[in-house]
Amino acid sequence: MPKKDYYEILDVKNNASAEDIKKAYRDLAKKYHPDKNPGDEVAEERFKEIQEAYDVLKNPEKKAEYDQIKEAEKRGFNFGDIGDVFSRGRGENKRQGFGFNDFGGLGDIFSRFFDRGERVRSSRYGPTRGNDVTVELEVPFEKAISGWETVIEVPQEEDCPTCHGTGAQPGSKTQTCPECGGKGTIESVQGGFALSRPCPRCYGRGTIIEQPCQTCAGRGTLQQNRRISVKIPPGVDDGMKIRVPGQGEPGVSGGPRGDLYIIPRISGHRFFERKGDDIYCNITIDFVQAILGVTIMVSTIDGKVKLKIPPGTQPDAVLRLKGRGIKRKDGTGRGDQFVKVKVKLPKDVTSKQAELLKQFKEQT
Ligand SMILES: [Zn+2]
Ligand SMILES: [Zn+2]
Repeated sequence: MPKKDYYEILDVKNNASAEDIKKAYRDLAKKYHPDKNPGDEVAEERFKEIQEAYDVLKNPEKKAEYDQIKEAEKRGFNFGDIGDVFSRGRGENKRQGFGFNDFGGLGDIFSRFFDRGERVRSSRYGPTRGNDVTVELEVPFEKAISGWETVIEVPQEEDCPTCHGTGAQPGSKTQTCPECGGKGTIESVQGGFALSRPCPRCYGRGTIIEQPCQTCAGRGTLQQNRRISVKIPPGVDDGMKIRVPGQGEPGVSGGPRGDLYIIPRISGHRFFERKGDDIYCNITIDFVQAILGVTIMVSTIDGKVKLKIPPGTQPDAVLRLKGRGIKRKDGTGRGDQFVKVKVKLPKDVTSKQAELLKQFKEQT
């Protein structure tokens, strides 16, 4: 794609006045008009170019934008690539010739130009912090209460161990990018502001890879399992978010790693059930114990403790063991343990037991 210099096409100076441009266009258009050059494809092509150039230069807005691009070109911007964007636009809109408005202006051309789908692992925004990663972790009931130190494996995008993130096959040559001189960025001027953009030739790497790394296919990163030791604090609740700073995905261009978030999923316990800071459990006694009262040993998260069941306790009565629950997050002590009393009735009784029960009934 040759550079398109609309001033050159119209054979006028860069600072030519609107009048001069108009005059130059009229003379040239007359000379190369298809009616005067029937069948001459060169002339026809030239005529189209003249139209295109004049379309831009006659319009003060389009001319100003075009001049900015030319200015940017002087400072090292690759004009050839812009020409490529232009010609694509022209193809979409053949009759009108190229028009900036088709692209929504210069800013849009730049963004199209730089977002061509290739991975920009670059100084695009300077050092960039890595992404946060969130994982769920099954935490056994007791560990959720006591706290837990464990090691988990988290799949993450890591720098490729073969090429160490460069994307180049070890031993293959990498060239310093001729476009940006290895800086990875290109200065351009837009609307009077100097802007730093990722180099389009090397995608911000500063180097050009001759042979991509075979391990990572030139991406520079690989999905790998990282082993991370994590501390689950005592008293965590199901679904809470625990932040592990600096253990997320790696940053780009020397930026820090993101954070890791662990969401504990507390696995069930066959005896205890947890609701907030309180613990619930069931115990079973027989009907005589329920009637006469009994002291039994009940499991708590601190071990077994005595529980006095008063005489006349009804089935499904709930007794409280104060302060045997989970440490409250606000530091105001602990929750409670609630014990539901199940009463078991005998299925079979001996004849003597039956006799005694009859006597019991007669006395009530
Ligand atoms: Zn690699
Ligand atoms: Zn470059």
